[in-house]
Amino acid sequence: MRWWGWGEDGHAVQLPPAAGGLLRDELGADPETRKPPVALEQVSVPDARLPDAARERLAAAVGAEHVRDDRESRIAHAVGRSYPDLVRIRSGDASSAPDAVVLPASADQVAGVLAACAEHRVGVVPFGGGTSVVGGVEPVRDGLAAAISLDLRRLASTVEVDRTSLTARLEAGLLGPEAERRLREQGVTLGHFPQSFEYSTVGGWVATRSAGQASTGYGRIDELVEGVRCIAPAGELGTRAVPASAAGPSLRELIVGSEGVLGVICEATVRVRPAPAARRYEGWSFASFAEGCDAFRVMEQAGCSADVNRLSDEHETRLSMALGSTGSRMEKLGRRYLRMRGHEGGCLAILGFEGSEEEIEDRRRHTGALLRAGGGVALGHRPGDAWVRSRYSGPYLRDELLDRGVLIETLETATSWANLGALHHAVGEALRGALAGRGTPPFVMCHVSHLYPSGASLYFTFLARQEDDALAQWRAAKTAASEAIVAGGGTVTHHHAIGRDHRQWMKAEVGEVGIELLRAAKERLDPVGIMNPGKLLP
Ligand SMILES: Cc1cc2nc3c(=O)[nH]c(=O)nc-3n(C[C@H](O)[C@H](O)[C@H](O)COP(=O)(O)OP(=O)(O)OC[C@H]3O[C@@H](n4cnc5c(N)ncnc54)[C@H](O)[C@@H]3O)c2cc1C
Repeated sequence: MRWWGWGEDGHAVQLPPAAGGLLRDELGADPETRKPPVALEQVSVPDARLPDAARERLAAAVGAEHVRDDRESRIAHAVGRSYPDLVRIRSGDASSAPDAVVLPASADQVAGVLAACAEHRVGVVPFGGGTSVVGGVEPVRDGLAAAISLDLRRLASTVEVDRTSLTARLEAGLLGPEAERRLREQGVTLGHFPQSFEYSTVGGWVATRSAGQASTGYGRIDELVEGVRCIAPAGELGTRAVPASAAGPSLRELIVGSEGVLGVICEATVRVRPAPAARRYEGWSFASFAEGCDAFRVMEQAGCSADVNRLSDEHETRLSMALGSTGSRMEKLGRRYLRMRGHEGGCLAILGFEGSEEEIEDRRRHTGALLRAGGGVALGHRPGDAWVRSRYSGPYLRDELLDRGVLIETLETATSWANLGALHHAVGEALRGALAGRGTPPFVMCHVSHLYPSGASLYFTFLARQEDDALAQWRAAKTAASEAIVAGGGTVTHHHAIGRDHRQWMKAEVGEVGIELLRAAKERLDPVGIMNPGKLLP
């Protein structure tokens, strides 16, 4: 991945033609503005501080060529892919760069690296794809002598499928496309497709309790993991890959979501499914977000949800129609028709079904009946197909917007159905208030995309003209939204994890005793405190 943004050089997604007018009209931004990243040579990287003795031990553990301290490697591991990460790195600030990047090729080598680092008091930051959006891969020393980034890309060979049990043992450093390609070769799928799929890894998914776009149908990663193998400084903490167990509290649950602060996840045994023979993605319209939420609740509680279920609020629908993306079918159906149905200014939903042709048709019949009863109007397959085509293009567009001096950030939460409308309102208002109060009127939009019988997630995207102090502007918005989430009864993260950016709200999530319990586990597994300092625990 290029050091200042998403994807590889030469692969760009252009902003739609209508975007310029929208930036001007909605945000007061000048679409002609250009704020490109500085040249690589201009990036400022601090001197490496890895003690020679530590370097020798690391070289002995993984081979000298796999201990890298060249500028490019260090810059590429300095930050993750959140908005503040990109603002900093694009401006040439790589002050957080690790002192070295170390690439082990086996769990034994990981153990050797951790022993060397514990002896020399060197922090270890596990690095999968580096797509964290909460500061999870930023090297923090916290009083230690130095910090390394432990890049797991060489831990990426094993894909062992058990077709009878429908499970697969996957090594942690496998990137999404490679893991899925090798599963498909054996006729199965994990069904885990986060928007960061192209550049995130199996280990990263497990370490962050990630949720893919089809999590309602296939399950979140924490529901798909059956067993894990984790190497901690104190030794190996493995859990048996069994379908269920009553052997005390689940230690698997301790490792899943541990964000690298307890140890390194080297492999996971996951549940897989036969690869779907067919797919059908389609659009629906609702008169309002409240009506759509209610229809989604009824559908989910009846056990009739699709695999992918997304409901955009009025703002997100308006933007996608204006940009001529997934909403264009709504345009074609005609504003008159939608007005006659009371849907003008309404909300777009995308539903995606996967399986055999017969299963899909059967499920669509039940789901369609419930959605129609809830006020939904079917828009056919075109909006669904358009969504599938653009499902991974968001991060490329973000680079284009950053180039034009636009703040663009996302955040997410989850709450009960009973509270969903109130939380949607509170977080939206908090973001609008925080940004407009600073003189930069924002565009705030939201969608529901992960359904549970008792509630759903809310995923907010907000844009504003970037201020000179872009980080202070971001912090004001982030703080206001997180405070509103906590006060409004949501979780501070449904799937992005805690990292550095959400640490101050961790106590609100698990309480004082909960923090002490996690700290006690960390002290036992990582007595010197080398594992991913400054993350998860406040
Ligand atoms: C554009 C974009 C879209 C995204 N969309 C989604 C989405 O749809 N759903 C979603 O859930 N998330 C999403 N994310 C967030 C991010 O992609 C996920 O958190 C993902 O799971 C991170 O995987 P990774 O391999 O990149 O991990 P990294 O970013 O490298 O690491 C994430 C955290 O896990 C730790 N870690 C990584 N690997 C290991 C390991 N093997 N052992 C122990 N600790 C480890 C790291 O130290 C860090 O704290 C998105 C991010 C971006 C930038």
